[in-house]
Amino acid sequence: SKAKLFDQNTEVKTTFKDVAGLEGAKEEVQEIVDFLKFPEKYTSLGGKIPKGALLVGPPGTGKTLLARAVAGEAKVPFFSLSGSDFVEMFVGVGASRVRDLFKQAKEKSPSIIFIDEIDAIGRARGKNAMSGSNDERENTLNQLLTEMDGFGTNTNVIVLAATNRADILDTALMRAGRFDRQIYVDLPDVRERKEIFEVHLRPLKKAENLDLDFLSKQTPGFSGADIANVCNEAALIAARNGKKSVDKQDFLDAVDRIIGGLEKKNKIIT
Ligand code: ATP
Repeated sequence: SKAKLFDQNTEVKTTFKDVAGLEGAKEEVQEIVDFLKFPEKYTSLGGKIPKGALLVGPPGTGKTLLARAVAGEAKVPFFSLSGSDFVEMFVGVGASRVRDLFKQAKEKSPSIIFIDEIDAIGRARGKNAMSGSNDERENTLNQLLTEMDGFGTNTNVIVLAATNRADILDTALMRAGRFDRQIYVDLPDVRERKEIFEVHLRPLKKAENLDLDFLSKQTPGFSGADIANVCNEAALIAARNGKKSVDKQDFLDAVDRIIGGLEKKNKIIT
């Protein structure tokens, strides 16, 4: 099996420069970077450093990217794990995986733990009682709560978690001393889409006729991940047509292709 205990990346290269738009969210996580870099600045005045924050927003909006960038900016190791792995791969061992994850992160502290798709383990308890894996999931969730409560105030491990379904999370997760901060990561507006295009155009050989304002206006409802896809797809289309650079038409074709894919996924384009 290719199931990994978790991804551990001790040298995160991602920084806030890689995250376009999301000004409000970046400002909020900047504070977390500061907690990791200068904990004594806060603890010396008797403050308790928060243990966790929830990144909330639609798929592909940059939650994972932002979490990595926090680790990259603070120059601390990044331990990550996806909630869906617990359901699909870690059957029977969820709680011990959580214990191991926290143990490693504490050994390497200051550090970041990132739990993607936390809703897969953090759905409100007591619902969905028909599902056989329910006890397993509850054990995993309980272990997560226990680990977060067990952190001393000077452990200096911050747990970030991402979800697009904050509404279905067990409220125990949001209690003080756990994920008591929520940071919203929304779909980009037209100005932010332009910034995201700029980031993902960096590696491409661009033709002169590219109009970023036009492209940004042609892509309402696109997430950052969709825009990254458009840029890559445009480069592939240009190459397929034997071009020396990626031009406006390649981008329009790529946008059409991505919209086709989005419609198949039944996403609403606004
Ligand atoms: P999911 O909820 O599906 O896990 P997510 O919110 O965690 O999605 P990411 O995995 O961070 O989204 O985004 C996927 C990719 O999309 C990123 O690796 C990046 O290439 C691109 N992307 C998304 N948002 C942004 C952004 N704000 N700026 C630059 N690139 C972005």
